Amino acid sequence: MQEFSLLTVILDLIPAEKYNEDHTNIINSLITFIQAYTGSHSQNVLGLLGATCDTSKWLFNSRQIDMESQYRILQIRDELTKNIESLIADISENLMEKDIIGFSRITSALCKSLCFHNVEKLKAKEKIQSRILILSTSDFDTSQYIDTMNCIFSAQKDNIVIDVCRLGKTDSSFLKQAASLSGGIYLKCNQESLLLNLMTHFFPDNLTRTNLITPVVDNVDFRTTCVCHQKVIDLGYICSVCLTVYCSFVPICHNCRTKFSFDKKRL
Ligand SMILES: [Zn+2]
Ligand SMILES: [Zn+2]
Repeated sequence: MQEFSLLTVILDLIPAEKYNEDHTNIINSLITFIQAYTGSHSQNVLGLLGATCDTSKWLFNSRQIDMESQYRILQIRDELTKNIESLIADISENLMEKDIIGFSRITSALCKSLCFHNVEKLKAKEKIQSRILILSTSDFDTSQYIDTMNCIFSAQKDNIVIDVCRLGKTDSSFLKQAASLSGGIYLKCNQESLLLNLMTHFFPDNLTRTNLITPVVDNVDFRTTCVCHQKVIDLGYICSVCLTVYCSFVPICHNCRTKFSFDKKRL
């Protein structure tokens, strides 16, 4: 029996100062991708999450739309546009109140994606292939490093592949780690070539990819960040109980309260 696939797309809606930018190009590319993906197997499921500096919210779920209706393109477009606009409007107001521009809540979106995959897996009567695709535009918030790594390890354990499509000129070393550790694809592109890359690299499922030449994730920076300063470090101290990383010696682990009984002078 042919396996069907479950895909969650996480759309990063940062940077906040560009909230008024036109997202039409991204939305059009996503509509075509959603059409093709859900049309390629009657039971394929696609969920779309939006992540901003304040929150992450579901923007679209193919289960809530009649994908056989002749008006489905209009329905998908209406649903996406309405939800993205409402999410951006909420954040703009909040930002004005708080006067801050933060990082996007990719980790929160990753957690929701993993829950979605768990629910769908429990409902499914047959084996499903699971993937998460992150459309990333902003810098990664290093304070979310541990939570993100926990999500990546959970995804690894459940054989969920994490793909990353980086929209912009700079790389994200943490998302590179996510793609590399979960066996996914990391690709950098611009908005104009988004649709081409979505259809070429991110459309094929895990099984089909074994017969294709896919982009290789290279030059992955596997360094970690300390919990105390959120700095990327080469060498640090690690708690042997909870694996929390520190850049300098601490007598008691801030996370699990374990007391370290070594002689500090010998460290
Ligand atoms: Zn530190
Ligand atoms: Zn600890």
